[in-house]
Amino acid sequence: MDCLFCKIIDREIPADIVYEDESYLAFKDINPKAKTHLLIIPKKHFERFDKINNNEDVKITSWLFEIAHKIIKDQNLNGCRLQMNCWKEHGQEVFHVHLHLMSDFNI
Ligand code: AMP
Repeated sequence: MDCLFCKIIDREIPADIVYEDESYLAFKDINPKAKTHLLIIPKKHFERFDKINNNEDVKITSWLFEIAHKIIKDQNLNGCRLQMNCWKEHGQEVFHVHLHLMSDFNI
């Protein structure tokens, strides 16, 4: 599949990975907008959050918040912005569902 984030999951292209389990991956955004800027993704490929029709798949993506919460606690982050862009008009550039976790905009 010609998906940038699937290639990161498969280690075909490098990324600075900060969290991984059987179903999820989190890595540093290559173009950070905050001191901490991570992307949290499900390993299962979904192009767009708003296009998911199956309830079980929606539940998979809802766990992105669980991972974000774990990272916030583990890294002792003080405040954050969680953001998911859906579709081109709304800022999505990479079509593999991902949650931005940003913290500390003093950069
Ligand atoms: P979005 O605009 O919500 O689709 O976000 C895509 C994000 O992916 C942007 O913030 C990019 O900086 C980031 N990005 C693009 N390519 C890479 C890469 N190879 N490794 C890490 N982050 C990337």
